[in-house]
Amino acid sequence: MRLLAPYQTGLWLAEYLDIRCQLCRVYRSTPQSQLSQNYLLSNISSLPTADSIPHSLKPLPNDPSFFANLRQQFNHRFNSGLLCSHCHDSIAWLPKPFNVDIAAGTVLSIQTATYYEYPLRQAIRAFKHHEDMTKLPLLLHAIRQLPRPHGCHHDNSVIVAMPTTEQRLVKRGFDPVSILSAQLSKHWQIPLWHGVKRIDDTVSQQGLTRAERLSNLDNAFVLIEKPPVKRLLLFDDVATTGASLQALGRTLLTSSETVTMSDIQTNHKYHLSAYAVAHGNQS
Ligand SMILES: [Zn+2]
Repeated sequence: MRLLAPYQTGLWLAEYLDIRCQLCRVYRSTPQSQLSQNYLLSNISSLPTADSIPHSLKPLPNDPSFFANLRQQFNHRFNSGLLCSHCHDSIAWLPKPFNVDIAAGTVLSIQTATYYEYPLRQAIRAFKHHEDMTKLPLLLHAIRQLPRPHGCHHDNSVIVAMPTTEQRLVKRGFDPVSILSAQLSKHWQIPLWHGVKRIDDTVSQQGLTRAERLSNLDNAFVLIEKPPVKRLLLFDDVATTGASLQALGRTLLTSSETVTMSDIQTNHKYHLSAYAVAHGNQS
């Protein structure tokens, strides 16, 4: 049997046994299905119960996402939820997506779960820099606000988590983005794909200007295998200028042996979109 990592046990307890809100620790947590959601129509997979789905939007039984939906509805019923509705409503969810160019005429749209400000900012910092696993339930709650991209399911899409360098992994001892991306994979029921390697071991992106970030990111990623599907869902923890996701997207589009620039412009062979937990302030 595969042993659970310690953080998984903590998440399991928060999700199934702890009835308190993981942020205020005062109120009872509210099931995700009962929290206010203002993006219902844009995302079938996040709908809480079959009864509330308008008939025209109900997935057909032969739709591969049908069983994923069923499983999600089951989870919604039995999960206690991770935040109370007060704390949930105090956070601005799903800011408007922003775009970065990844090829001539091709933009990458970046959707974040929320802004990089209290309480997510503190949680992400504690988790990333101090391995504070008690912040993981709040981050998981944020990840669950990301609607699964329309039309994407486990047969036609993969999640490409922002890779880290080996040097950084050794120095830090853990890879926060891979832990978060595993949770996103579970939430969307879409597999992770690890076909990109990060090779820059020079300068950290922190504290650099946009121009410096972009030049630093040139040649930072290398494709080690061809993507298995056409829909690639890029994921990072924080997107500020979107420069890292932009460089990763550019590598995916241009490095694949079978894709030439004319393919990209005419056929849009690959469809890329990007997601992050929080949108950082650029100032
Ligand atoms: Zn609360």
